[in-house]
Amino acid sequence: MEIGIVGLPNVGKSTLFNAITKAGAEAANYPFCTIEPNVGVVEVPDERLDKLAGMFKPKKVTPTAMRFVDIAGLVKGASQGEGLGNKFLSHIRQVDAIAQVVRCFQDENITHVEGGLDPLRDIEIINTELCLADIDSVEKRLDKAQKQTKSGDKKAQAEVELLNRVRKMLEDAQPVRRVEFNEEEQFILKELNLLTQKPVLFVANVSEEEIAGPDDNPLVQRVKQYAAREKAGVITVCAKLESEIAELPDDEAKAFLTDLGLTESGLDKLIKAGFYLLGLMTFLTAGEPEVRAWTIVKGTKAPQAAGKIHSDIERGFIRAEIVSYDDLMRSGSQAAAKEKGLVRLEGKDYVMQDGDVVYFRFNV
Ligand code: GDP
Repeated sequence: MEIGIVGLPNVGKSTLFNAITKAGAEAANYPFCTIEPNVGVVEVPDERLDKLAGMFKPKKVTPTAMRFVDIAGLVKGASQGEGLGNKFLSHIRQVDAIAQVVRCFQDENITHVEGGLDPLRDIEIINTELCLADIDSVEKRLDKAQKQTKSGDKKAQAEVELLNRVRKMLEDAQPVRRVEFNEEEQFILKELNLLTQKPVLFVANVSEEEIAGPDDNPLVQRVKQYAAREKAGVITVCAKLESEIAELPDDEAKAFLTDLGLTESGLDKLIKAGFYLLGLMTFLTAGEPEVRAWTIVKGTKAPQAAGKIHSDIERGFIRAEIVSYDDLMRSGSQAAAKEKGLVRLEGKDYVMQDGDVVYFRFNV
């Protein structure tokens, strides 16, 4: 799962991305993540891991991770090839969700590409570019579908109707994510991989002075109101502070945050919001060799969750031995939980729950 960081120039994207890479996870733990210069992998904070580590005394503790991609180069006119243009748009196409950094901090020394400070205008500029790119995708598909209708293809007819509707929305600068579609429509749209259908999170970048009470900033309020209409999330960060915090050892970072009157870093907020935005949840595996968190999409069934660990476990899946994290903690040990009958045996149709501590049984 991957989140793309976008925004106009000079809003604080690189500063935030630097904080992400500085705080970055040890790559060795995540061999499936190839790390390119514009990719940062961060560990998802989860205090349940520490508690489980206290119980199992494992050799290794591995949190789950999230990938962020720095997608630079978006300017007005990108959809017409300005700036990095189409290259930029194809990068966005590959991510699962978009985090758009919007500048809400005042600083006379840092020019704004569009003149004054106005986060809603900035959001609209990016929205327009993404809508224009989507219109392009829709029109190409529409051409094809229209040809197919000539042979009396009923399905193609429905597709043409849908695509016309979507095109009209996009022409009115309405992102596709605003609308709910039925299953059939979703199926058609999925193939188009529209940029404005991806979940979005606005990252309001405020100044050092404002981070303790960001809601006092009227620009932040405006972003929040906008986001509410958009079904989008909002978090506030001070990118500059984040890049300083990311350089500190854990205990010093905590003390620094407390001094500022904060309970968590902007980076942690970003990771949590990203997790929520993508509809993700965590299951855990615990034993002496390793205590580990794994990421799955909500609604994932046991065999597919097993497949996250290894495809062989999914293929040979027999049953999952599951205890909820809370039950396990209350029992004090795995053996005690078993005695109390709190460890369940679940089959292939079991839908995983957040915080399930799992042992998969499988045939080799
Ligand atoms: P990008 O073009 O969006 O990647 O923007 P940068 O991260 O390069 O930031 C542009 C300028 O804004 C740099 O000089 C940063 O130091 C400054 N900047 C970024 N975030 C903040 C912030 O939270 N507060 C202040 N005062 N300056 C910031």
